[in-house]
Formats: sequence, C-alpha cells, structure tokens
Amino acid sequence: MQWPRFMRRPLNLISVPTVVEVLPLSKPGFAFGDPRQDVASLDINYGKALLPFNAQSKSFIAPFPRQGEDTQLLLERLDELPSKMMVALYESKTPLWPNFLIHHSGGDGLNLQAVRSCMRHKGQGFSEAWCVLPAKKMARLLRAQKISKPLFLAPAWENKRFLSTALDYQRTLSLLENTQPLVDVERITVVMPHYDDEVLQCGGAMLRALAANATLQVIWLSDGSRGVSSVSHQKSSEMRRAEAEAAMAELGVKNMHHLDGVETKLAADDSICQQLNHLLSEFRPQRVHSVWWADNHVDHYEANLILQRAWPHDLDATIAASGLWQVMPLRTVVELTGEQQAQKIKSLQCYQSQIDAVDYARLSQHLDAYYAHQSDANYAENFWHVSAQQYFSALQNTQVKTRRWFG
Ligand SMILES: [Zn+2]
Repeated sequence: MQWPRFMRRPLNLISVPTVVEVLPLSKPGFAFGDPRQDVASLDINYGKALLPFNAQSKSFIAPFPRQGEDTQLLLERLDELPSKMMVALYESKTPLWPNFLIHHSGGDGLNLQAVRSCMRHKGQGFSEAWCVLPAKKMARLLRAQKISKPLFLAPAWENKRFLSTALDYQRTLSLLENTQPLVDVERITVVMPHYDDEVLQCGGAMLRALAANATLQVIWLSDGSRGVSSVSHQKSSEMRRAEAEAAMAELGVKNMHHLDGVETKLAADDSICQQLNHLLSEFRPQRVHSVWWADNHVDHYEANLILQRAWPHDLDATIAASGLWQVMPLRTVVELTGEQQAQKIKSLQCYQSQIDAVDYARLSQHLDAYYAHQSDANYAENFWHVSAQQYFSALQNTQVKTRRWFG
C-alpha cells in the first residue's frame, strides 16, 4: 500500500485520506448497480472478477447513499453482512468523507473526481473518493452513532481521526436539515478564515447580492502569513492582502477588514472575537456567509468557534455556510449565470500565489458544476442556510469541540 505524499496545503487538513492504487478488498461483489460507470479503477483492478454480490463474495461494494431512503436500503443490506466484512462505498451522486483516494489520469470529467484531484494532485487527472470500513462500523457511521473506543482499535490505515471527522460530518448533515432559500437582503457580511475562501465559497452569491444593491462587508480572520512558503511570513501577508484587494476590486467590494489572526493557528481568543463582535454589532448584517465546521481544515473549524463567540446576542441574522475542503450535499442551491461564473474565476485569478500551488480555478469550476447538477444552470453555489440560532445549536450538538487535528 502506498502512503500519501502530502502536499504542503493538506497538512492543514484534519483528516487526510490514504492514496492507493488498489483498494484492500478480496473477492468484491457489488450491489445497487454496476459501479464501473462511476469508478473506473474497479474495472482496471478487478476486471471480470468483479461480480454482483453473491455467496462467494468476501467484500461488498456500493455507492455512498443519499440521506433518507437510500441510506435505509443500504443499512438493511449492511446489517445482514458479517460484522467484519469489508464494505467499500464509492462517491457517485452524493459526496462522502473519504479514507481512500485512487488517482488516475483518465476520466470523463466527473466533477467530484476533478475536485478531489485538485486537493491532492495539483489539479491533474481525476481522483475517486472511497470510504472503506468493516460492515458494522460502516453502519454505525451511516447512522451517525457514537463509535465506541474498542472500535477505534483498528489497523493503522483506518485511522482514528478519519472516523471521528466522518462521524462529525454525518451528524452535521442530520442536524442542519431545514435550510432556507437565499433571498435578497440589504446587508451581508462575509466572514472567512483565509484570503480566497470568500471567492471560492460565495463569489457568485456576492455578485448576485451586489447586483441586487446589497451592501457587502468582507472580513478575513487570518493574516495570510503562511500562504506563500517561499517568502517571509510578513512578505506572504503583504502579497496575499494585495491579491485579496485586487480580487475584491474585480467583484466590486469596497468594505474590507483584516483581523490578522495567524494563519494555520486561528483561535477564538479575546482580541479577534472582540474585533469581530464590534464589526458585526456596528454593521448589523441580515445574513452572514461563512465556512461550516465540518470543512476538514483546522482554520475553517476554528473560524466557527470565533464566529460563535463573537456573535452579538441581539443580532438576529441567518448564516449561509458552505464547504470547500469537504464537499457538501445539495441544500440551498444558488444558480450562477455564465457571466457570473466567468467573473468569479477572474476574481479568483487575482490569487496567483495560491493558484500556483493548487488549481483553484479548476476546482471552483468543477465544484460549481457539481452543485448545478440538479438544476438547469451550468454552475451553482451551495449553502446550508439557517438561522444563527439553529446553526450554533447544531455546532454545539455535534460535540466537535473535543476534536483533535493533525500536527
Ligand atoms: Zn480557507
């Protein structure tokens, strides 16, 4: 088995999947349709040995289920399997939290596979995302049940951090069900941990808001000091800030604030929380755009604790959260015109120092194309848009504050 070659940026990730050429499965049998359309590696690695699941099968392959009925149907099958039989779920119609990636050069432009490759392989090729666990543990994960300690005693590849973050993700999905449409409001604040997150996550929504004459305030929590590794921290901050200002000029945003927390070490300390509280209290946004806590990045998670602590108690607003490092199932989909998507990419291209490391333009286009797959538009953004009260109570209920991350 080949262990992952870490790129610098994914070191910030809380859970990092293992990159392999072949999954550790013997005699695989598939259910819920032939998987070869979605995951080409199976054909390459197993060929004619890949059969529908039968009495001789020693492992079980199926698409990762959508919430609701699909999950129930899969759980019924999983409950019948021996508890230790390996179950491999692949990414098809809905995003999953992967513990394995299989990278290949071919592909017919499957959007999620392109997004996965941008995060690990400098945008080249396609990466299949898989979740592989013994049957009993997989069932617990899909039911978002607590996974007890003895079940954590697992082979090294089945790492502890993967289970806790994947479980956190499943819990988050079940806690934030009632999302609202994104209606026009007058005052919107965008609170993001890093420079470029704002364009990637909600550049289109910002363009739509500006077109509807909304007033937009953008706040970055971190200083960009670790964004360019070839120069000093101070120089990196200066470069990233200049890029951000150019990117905002491209969108037409003028109201900007830099709170200068240390990138990769964001923490909900008094200073940053007071500054944010002050800005929100003065501006009184009706909607806040941010990153959600299950976004598999240390600063993105911490940004949620900052927002929660800084939130003025008399502020009645909604939160539209979205993910970048972990793709989210569709909820509140905001369609973009071709022109808006082009402008979003133009703005993103101002972040040249970042695009040099990860092909964010390709990532953004494929992610937005994936989010549009159930609508008439070619591109869309996707948010979990709920009242702040609902959002923070869900954050509390996932109990993610006990989570530990990489490093
Ligand atoms: Zn970020």
